[in-house]
Amino acid sequence: MGMDRRKFLGSAALGLAGLALPGCATTSSRPVARTGCLPPVNVSADRIIRTLAGLRPYRASGFVVRAEALGDKRLVHNYGHGGAGITLSWGSAKLAVDLGLPGHRGPVAVLGAGVMGLSTARLLQEAGFPVMIYARALPPDTTSNIAGGQFHPFGHFREAAVTPEWRRQFVAAVDYGWRRFQIMVGDDYGIRWLPTYSESSGPEYALLPTFPPVNRLLGPNEHPFPVDSLIRFDTLYVETGRYLRQMMRDVHIAGGRIEVRGFAGPAEIAGLSERLVFNCTGLGARELFGDTELRPARGQLAILLPQPEVRYAFTGQDGYMFPRPDGILLGGTFELDQWSTEPEPETIARILASHRRLFGAFRCTA
Ligand SMILES: Cc1cc2nc3c(=O)[nH]c(=O)nc-3n(C[C@H](O)[C@H](O)[C@H](O)COP(=O)(O)OP(=O)(O)OC[C@H]3O[C@@H](n4cnc5c(N)ncnc54)[C@H](O)[C@@H]3O)c2cc1C
Repeated sequence: MGMDRRKFLGSAALGLAGLALPGCATTSSRPVARTGCLPPVNVSADRIIRTLAGLRPYRASGFVVRAEALGDKRLVHNYGHGGAGITLSWGSAKLAVDLGLPGHRGPVAVLGAGVMGLSTARLLQEAGFPVMIYARALPPDTTSNIAGGQFHPFGHFREAAVTPEWRRQFVAAVDYGWRRFQIMVGDDYGIRWLPTYSESSGPEYALLPTFPPVNRLLGPNEHPFPVDSLIRFDTLYVETGRYLRQMMRDVHIAGGRIEVRGFAGPAEIAGLSERLVFNCTGLGARELFGDTELRPARGQLAILLPQPEVRYAFTGQDGYMFPRPDGILLGGTFELDQWSTEPEPETIARILASHRRLFGAFRCTA
């Protein structure tokens, strides 16, 4: 009798975490087992609403934020953020603007209207400068629109290839971006917190003082995934389509102008009227400035119909699942030197099959 009552109270108390319930304080009555339950993703080919392939602007020695002279202009580079450009956008833009602005007066040009160009433009406007954006393509036709949008500052450099100076820039960029995105959480920018289950033991997490904020190894009863070892942390997710649309509006509201225009080389840039120019052209910087260290790292995605009840993310050895209001993203390929932006049916089928296995083997479902 007593057990039954406890069981009943235990499940009824699920939504009341933290409330003291007399008689429920034993291990058996606490909702421990339920913490391992999550609604699974419904993975099947007939739920795919679109497939995508995007090219991450990858550099083994890390992103470039650097100032140089171009004729009578100051040119500040801000490109090459690999698989972490959304994450690093505010922080990297802050480094670039701090390098470029001292001593400058008058209008500023920004090349590129992906996440890096738009964040750079916003920081310049916040500092009081008129901004002109020039870009070959605008959202939704940028790599930034394809991004999964997880705030996760890795997948953009090789540990052995970076310098201590770069590492300092990296830590500063993550710290600024982490705080900046937090004050933008909500539906207008399409940013939210989600618990994230990760198969990686995350040795790289020791690199950063601020990320992730909580990082806990889970016991087998604390999650439903059929994997050996799992950590859980909380991070931010950006619905990139909505976010970039809102960022474009913000640029316009602050008086910024955007011109669709491609540049073939530095000589064309030298002809602009603005004396301070930010190069935020992503992978385009390879051709524009001859940076052959910059390489595409292609990522392919299968997007399934939205499942609003799925409010957690997963990253594993075979790929990742990010749930967004505009669809469930399944992805995770990282294909160096692949230039085609056509999704490959075999790769999409593989991504689907690995996630079907994962969610089909859930040990407990809510
Ligand atoms: C599948 C996939 C998943 C990803 N997931 C994540 C994630 O979860 N989290 C994360 O942080 N990052 C993620 N990324 C990485 C992220 O998308 C990139 O790092 C980021 O979008 C780079 O932004 P950007 O503004 O530098 O480049 P882009 O978005 O490519 O913008 C470049 C801009 O420059 C313009 N341009 C280029 N060349 C020229 C030229 N010659 N003249 C004029 N204009 C030019 C372009 O038209 C465009 O407007 C992912 C990427 C992919 C492909």
